[in-house]
Amino acid sequence: MGAEWDAVVIGAGAAGLVAAAHAAERGRRVLLLEKGRKPGVKILMSGGTRCNITHDCDARGIIEAFGPNGKFLHSALAALGPREVVALFEAEGVATKVEDTGKVFPVSDRAVDVLDALLTRLRRSGAALATSEAVTGIAAQPEGGFRIVTATRTLTAEKVLITTGGKSYPGCGTTGDGYGFAAAFGHTVTATRPALVPLTVQPAWVAELRGITLPDVTLKVTENGKVLTSRRGSTLFAHFGLTGPAPLDVSRSVSGHASPASLVLEVDLLPAEPEAHFDEYLRAESLASGKKQLAGVLAEKLPRRVCDQLLALCGMPAERKAAALSKPDRQALVASVKRLRIPLRGTLGFEKAEVTAGGVSLGEVDSRTMQSKRQPGLYLAGEVLDLDGWIGGYNFQSAWSTGWLAGRNL
Ligand code: FAD
Repeated sequence: MGAEWDAVVIGAGAAGLVAAAHAAERGRRVLLLEKGRKPGVKILMSGGTRCNITHDCDARGIIEAFGPNGKFLHSALAALGPREVVALFEAEGVATKVEDTGKVFPVSDRAVDVLDALLTRLRRSGAALATSEAVTGIAAQPEGGFRIVTATRTLTAEKVLITTGGKSYPGCGTTGDGYGFAAAFGHTVTATRPALVPLTVQPAWVAELRGITLPDVTLKVTENGKVLTSRRGSTLFAHFGLTGPAPLDVSRSVSGHASPASLVLEVDLLPAEPEAHFDEYLRAESLASGKKQLAGVLAEKLPRRVCDQLLALCGMPAERKAAALSKPDRQALVASVKRLRIPLRGTLGFEKAEVTAGGVSLGEVDSRTMQSKRQPGLYLAGEVLDLDGWIGGYNFQSAWSTGWLAGRNL
């Protein structure tokens, strides 16, 4: 007897929705199973509920955002690159815009429009969707194909695609189930850790600056003076530490470290201004505007609350006049602006991580088809794989592309 389904797709997130629709459009009988009551929950909360669907760059730009593992994405991006993703959504009536950062959003700024477009396409494709149905096990059958076990039934399918995502934001249903399914077929799962996650810090003064955003800083994660990673971009002070694009992008090297509390974040608060230039600015101001308060001189460059804090860290009273700036004080101030040291504590963990680093080892998956090299007929796509990129739409791009390619081959 033949299998009930040509393909069962497990997990109705970004990768699963695209894969199921694409496979059904190619004439396959497809069932998409979702653990949660609703599909695509992460899409709805993404990008601050605006959904940053991709990045305005070519395939090379996407590959770069994933570090050494990025080359795995070559075929997937050739099948569905950033331009094709934009075309896919525009064809469903979702007009898109590119922001200055290169991030692509729907013009409406509504993530729900992105999800609606995917659900419309899914419905049109003829794929079936079953929600509130968590898969608990997958087994290969001796006669070929698979048995898929859920809480309420056992199904059979010729092929299975795992798109269960990672284990970050577990409240969304992403509790790492796919790692167990893959491991049962002999797959290696590389150590998982939170990525794109806010940083927690040791000094209490950081919390005093909560709510302040600095649009352009450079962050370096250092260990005994050695730079582990660095990133330039916007940073937001929060009650727990630091968040925003730059902190999130460096976070994977913090969460992956055996003792994060031994790491120090070195911050350049004015990366566009060379150190000698800034030193000269302070020197010139102390001569030309000696009656001005130092905090006022600094406030020409940085928010006033940050300036007050920097002066306090250097042991200088906020009301000190610019004329009273000695050379050693000036050097201390330059160092605190260009090389501010913030000892780290760690991260907010999987609960607040936008993605999961680590996952199913890429060497065991055929990047041209997304088929497992361990088990014929088994496919994997999306964040369950050992792929995590920078912030900026790269992670969705990876999910759409790998999902699309898997869907084509189901
Ligand atoms: P997911 O979208 O996580 O989907 C996996 C699905 O599988 C879930 O619906 C889950 O319920 C289901 N599932 C899990 N286990 C089972 C099971 N046993 N049975 C059935 N179903 C199961 N990326 C961007 O590029 N741009 C952004 O703007 C952006 N913003 C983000 C904001 C937040 C707050 C978060 C948490 C993430 C954000 N990301 C963003 C990352 C992006 O959401 C993910 O990389 C992407 O969703 C991964 O897609 P996926 O299909 O692999 O997994």
